[in-house]
Order: sequence, then structure tokens, then C-alpha cells
Amino acid sequence: MSALIQLGNPAPSAKTDSVRPPTRAEKLLLTVAGVGWALFALALLSPSLFGSTVWAAPIIFGLVTVGTAGYFISVYRGTNPGIKNHGVFQMSLLNRGALGWATGVGFTTFYVALYWYGDSLQGGIDLLEPFSQWLRGASADQWFLYGFLYTLLVLVYGLRMLLKYRHNRYQLVRTGSVMFFQLGFAFLLPGVLKRVANNEFYFTYFWPLSPYSGWPDHFQADPQTWLGYVFLWWGVIALVVATPVLTFFYGKRWYCSWVCGCGGLAETLGDPWRQLSDKSEKAWRVERWMIHSVLVAVVVVTALLWGNDLVGGTWLGPSALFAKKMYVFVITMAFAGVIGVGFYPLMGSRVWCRFGCPMAAILGILQRFFSRFRISTNGGQCISCGNCSTYCEMGIDVRAYAQRGEDIVRASCVGCGVCSAVCPRGVLKLENGRFGDRFLGDGSPLRALGDALRGRPRS
Ligand code: SF4
Ligand code: SF4
Repeated sequence: MSALIQLGNPAPSAKTDSVRPPTRAEKLLLTVAGVGWALFALALLSPSLFGSTVWAAPIIFGLVTVGTAGYFISVYRGTNPGIKNHGVFQMSLLNRGALGWATGVGFTTFYVALYWYGDSLQGGIDLLEPFSQWLRGASADQWFLYGFLYTLLVLVYGLRMLLKYRHNRYQLVRTGSVMFFQLGFAFLLPGVLKRVANNEFYFTYFWPLSPYSGWPDHFQADPQTWLGYVFLWWGVIALVVATPVLTFFYGKRWYCSWVCGCGGLAETLGDPWRQLSDKSEKAWRVERWMIHSVLVAVVVVTALLWGNDLVGGTWLGPSALFAKKMYVFVITMAFAGVIGVGFYPLMGSRVWCRFGCPMAAILGILQRFFSRFRISTNGGQCISCGNCSTYCEMGIDVRAYAQRGEDIVRASCVGCGVCSAVCPRGVLKLENGRFGDRFLGDGSPLRALGDALRGRPRS
């Protein structure tokens, strides 16, 4: 119970905006949500308890949704809009205390079960069987269960974001966007496509985030229909055309903070832990090495697979399969899933985006050297409160830039805009200004990129 209370951030009093204990109604709502989760746990432990009855899933997930959403509405109703820190660094769940660790263990255990022990989720899968048949015309599996829970959490915690940041239009639109893309493009549309085209296609994921879509096997299918051709070439168009163009105009935020499902979960369920990201120089160094190493790994594996394919598979032999399996095991499952989400309560909400995502690495290089996006700072107004640095999920010491009055032009910035939303002085502004004028050497960005690769950045 107390874990849930804190996950929603403590309840602020309407008059003073200081922390107050939950009201009787809020306790009741939390109990309702708790009963829902308890029934879900029972279904997992004893699959025959509910089986595939039509009524079980609506009741169980209805209790979770009504209880949690009702609690968030009650907590934020009548409070003053704007950021409230409310002792986030004093709370066990939000500051790596016992509750935080327990939650991290819970998340990682779920991912381990999902990837390697799918049978253990059979009770949950059965619950969704009627819904899966209705939506997809196919039986539910662990991935449908995962997609369903993922979408539910993005929507419910998205509501929390909408309430928490209701004073900031950018946050309202951006949160609406991640909720829309998760529900529409990452859950409903793939389900419908499964029914009509037998292909659960995800338009929002493409190489390198979805490595398979850039590997030779993907292109060896015979499309037969126009929709098949769309599935085949969508990823190439999205990567080669949409990605550079949109990143040039808007920075990596168009994808990382508006469209991507990983970013969507980080910006909703992960929000209560965003302050845990490490802001040190050392973490920044580790981040650059790690994320670019993963990018190199996916490029090398993809190039090897294509080279192997061109010589008829004789070159790598069975090692081709091993290379694919290793990449998927280490990066996609262990890093993106188990660590990426499991470590929210320990390392903040963007562990994967910051240290591992190869798509973020590409977008970051484009954003740093070939984009109009920057966060401008009005240094004279800064009062050094540090809210911006505290709540930057990507570990950027925003305050240091603000104090120098320097534009923030960082590869890692996902443009979530929370630094700007929590600044009490209006110092920070996300802008897509002129291409020039962003950093020393921006007249010849290719040379600046070359300098950076040689370890000699100019700014
Ligand atoms: S610098 Fe601001 S916009 Fe960029 S990731 Fe950090 S909080 Fe988000
Ligand atoms: S930029 Fe705003 S939030 Fe950041 S330290 Fe200065 S006043 Fe505080």
C-alpha cells in the first residue's frame, strides 16, 4: 500500500502544497488497485482459477485502472500546478531504499519470466485470450500480455503525467503523443494487422532499435501484396528519410520523447524515478562509450550477416545464427528489457536510452552535429535552484549550462522538456532555431564530428 502511495508521489495538500497523508477515499482507491494486482498475481500462480473466462480480465484490470487513475486524480485535484519536490530523496521507493530495490527486483523478475520462462505467465495469458481473439483473431501469448500491460501502464501513468504537468502545454501534448503512439501504433494496429495480414507489424520500430528489420532474412520474404511491400520497406524509409529530416528540424525528441515506446514508458511509469540519473562527468564518459559500442555492435553484426548472405551463407555458417542470437540476448533482452526497465528504481528512467539504445546513438549524433534543436538558456534569470539538473533523466547537468548562459547542444538530450517545465524562472527554452549559431565549429559540422571522433571536441 505505502509503495503505491509513493509511486504516485506523495499527496500534496491543496492549501500548502506540503506532503499530507492519503485521505480515506485515496486509501480506498489504492486498496481497489491492490486487489486488482493481487487477483492478477493469483491468476499467475494458479492458471486454472480464472482460465479464459470473458469476465475475469475486465474485472481485474478494471480494478487496477480505476483504483490507480482515481488515486492520481484525487492526489492532484485542488493542488497548485507546478513542480513539487516533496522529499523525493527521503523516500525509500524513490531514492534506492529497500522499497526501491524491491520494486527493481520485481521488474527484473517479470522481464526474466517474460523472456526465458514464458510458461510461468500462462495464467495472465489465459486471462487475455478472449480479448486477443476479438482483436487479433489469434491466441494470446506472452508478448500480447506484455503489450497489454505495457500499454495499460503508459496510459494510467500518462494520466498522472497530464495531471502533474498540467501547467505546461509542451508536456500535455508530448504525453498525449506517447499515449497515442503506444495505444494506436504499438498495440491496437499490430493487433488488427495480425488479423487482416497475419503480420503483427510495428511501424514505430525499425533498425537498429529493431535489429531484425535490417537483417537479410527480413528482405527475403515474398511480399505478394502492397501491404507486404510496405512492411518490407517501411523501416528503410523511416531510417534513411524520416529520421535525418525530422531530426534536423526537431532534434531527437521527435522520436525519443514523442513516438518511441521505450521513451513512452520512461516518460510515464518511469517519471517518479527520473531524479535518480547520475549527473557526474564519469557517468557521461561511460554513457558515451557504452551507447556507441552498442551502435558499433549492431552495425558489425548487420554487416557480417549481409556479407555472409551475399556469399550464400558459406562464410559464417552456423556462426551467423549465433551472432544474431548473441545480439538479441545481450542487447535486446538483457540490456533493453531486464536492465532498461528493471533498473528504473535504481538508475532512473532512461537507463536503456542513455547507455544502450543504438537508435538513440544515431539520433544523438545527428542532433549534436546536424540539427536545429537546442535548449537556449537565459542565464541572468537563473537562481541556481538545481531543479533542472535534478529532474533531467538523461543525467545532464542543465544548471551548469544555465549558469553560463550557454545553449545546451547535447547528443543525449531527448527533448523531454521537463527541465524547462520545472524551472521556476523560465530560464530554459526548447528551440528549433537557425542551423548555425549552435556550437563552436557549426559552420562545418562534418569536421566537428571528425574532431569529436578523434577525441578533440571544440565545445
Ligand atoms: S536537458 Fe531537459 S529536455 Fe534534455 S533530456 Fe534533460 S530534462 Fe529532458
Ligand atoms: S535554470 Fe531554472 S531550474 Fe535550473 S537552476 Fe536555474 S533557475 Fe533553477
